[in-house]
Amino acid sequence: MASRDPVADLRRIAFLLERAGEATYRVRAFRSAATKVAAMDDEELAARAAEGTLSEISGIGDVTARCIAESLGGEEPVYLRRLESTEGVDLPGAAGELREALRGDCHTHSDWSDGGSPIEEMALAAVELGHEYLVLTDHSPRLTVARGLPPARLRRQLDYVARLNDQLPDGFRILTGIEVDILDDGSLDQEDALLERLDVVVGSVHSKLRDESPRMTKRMVNAIANPHLDILGHMTGRKVAAAGEGDRGHRKGHTRPPSTFDLDRVIAACVEHGKAIEINSRPDRLDPPKRMLTVAVEAGCLFSIDTDAHAPGQLDWLGFGCERAALCKVPVERVVNTWSMDRLLEWTAGHA
Ligand SMILES: [Zn+2]
Ligand SMILES: [Zn+2]
Repeated sequence: MASRDPVADLRRIAFLLERAGEATYRVRAFRSAATKVAAMDDEELAARAAEGTLSEISGIGDVTARCIAESLGGEEPVYLRRLESTEGVDLPGAAGELREALRGDCHTHSDWSDGGSPIEEMALAAVELGHEYLVLTDHSPRLTVARGLPPARLRRQLDYVARLNDQLPDGFRILTGIEVDILDDGSLDQEDALLERLDVVVGSVHSKLRDESPRMTKRMVNAIANPHLDILGHMTGRKVAAAGEGDRGHRKGHTRPPSTFDLDRVIAACVEHGKAIEINSRPDRLDPPKRMLTVAVEAGCLFSIDTDAHAPGQLDWLGFGCERAALCKVPVERVVNTWSMDRLLEWTAGHA
């Protein structure tokens, strides 16, 4: 039997585990084994598989060694077959149409901040999903727990992304971006000159989430009025218990109530300044809640449906956001990531 590509099989396993909501650290065994195997020469790999000594290599364990041996032997690894058999079905109706219309993802993280994978692995997963672009939005400096990027590191990232884009397939591009912290007074946690340079700016509240409503409202409205901000990220900051929590590696009971603010004023500011409200697809966020989303739809807001992915497999969570958007009757033409890349970039560059 012709051998399969063990690197592709290991990465596919990691992707499916991430998509199923497994914590990134649990998936790391498969990603690091893939990296190890990719760096080995074929003969050594085959010899070790034949001798049964794959697991003597650091970074390859018993489970990953078995997968590699099965791949090389030309059969789909049992581990992978089991995961593929739980493969999701297509989304029905309006949710499916929305998903079909999405051309990219405007909120994603790499291991430059608190994501689990290198930028190139995120990009390759996005290419496989059929995206035309992926906006890389690592965190800003003040969010030190998430290794937010100080200006100098962000500049280095911009150079790095420019080089990566030269190597990626035609018809796909990594767009530059940031998930910038909305500070106490509503200012944004990054140098103006850098925010100006970025393709897309997502602004989110990550601190003082319990600010009193008038304070929080002012803070959010100030940020929305800032011409650099394009998309308001996970607007309530709530955390909900994800399905299967506990047995999927999530921290048990890690929930958080939504922040309080004047919803009408925040939405009016988004409409006035032409900014988009993010429909965050993460199962542990589901932000904004449906009630708020419906108000925003009626007010005429723009939206972006994003994953806030911290690992490649999570890039396939867009369907969750599409389901919620469809339930709340979000019109396709008001979702900025259904637009062509040119139109998207014209929009992000055009706020006065
Ligand atoms: Zn965030
Ligand atoms: Zn994020």
